[in-house]
This record gives sequence, structure tokens and C-alpha cells, in this order.
Amino acid sequence: MHELGIVVHVIDMVEKAAEENGVSKVLRLDLEVGEVSTIVPDYFRDCYKWAIKRTKYMQECELNMIIVQGISYCRDCKKTYRTTEYGRACPLCGGYNTYLVTGSDVIVRDIQAV
Ligand SMILES: [Zn+2]
Repeated sequence: MHELGIVVHVIDMVEKAAEENGVSKVLRLDLEVGEVSTIVPDYFRDCYKWAIKRTKYMQECELNMIIVQGISYCRDCKKTYRTTEYGRACPLCGGYNTYLVTGSDVIVRDIQAV
């Protein structure tokens, strides 16, 4: 139930923003989901549909998920590579002096409300 926790967290944030900005309802939520964020998009969407029924502003809110590529950077080669293809090991030198640049987060990119 990892996804549900994140869904609840995101919805709380959006509801709070809606409250503070005095909107009547939120129509669309653009959510960036990193492909190495451990979230299963289909399951996330199911949790979302269930969770918005309990909200004040998001009853009809459409969820638009934008999948963000996982990109890692090798400090030795000073190059980036696709995390999903190679994991933690750099494909150029085979070393582990790497870190994830993007693709591990869930971020609210935009909210459309009336
Ligand atoms: Zn390298």
C-alpha cells in the first residue's frame, strides 16, 4: 500500500492549496512521476480514484500522470545515462560513482482549478 500513502499525501497538498487559494473545485492535476520512484502507475490511479471521493475540492479532478525518465550521472565519466537500463553501475566505466539526477520523485507540476 505504498502508493496509497503517496496518493493521500499528494491529495492533502492539493486540497490545502485549493483551500488557501479559495477555489471552488480542482479540475486537473498534472503529476510528474519518476520511472524509478517505485510507483506502479495503474495502481496509483486506482488509489487516486478511491481517495478523491473523500475530498472537498477534487471530486471531479482528472489525474494526468507525466512519467519522468530516470537519469543517472557518473562523476568519473561526467556523463549521464538511463537509470532503468543500467541501474547504479555506469555503462561507460562500470563504476558506482554515480547518482540519480531525475526520476525518483513524485511532483505536483500544475493544478487547474475554478
Ligand atoms: Zn562512468
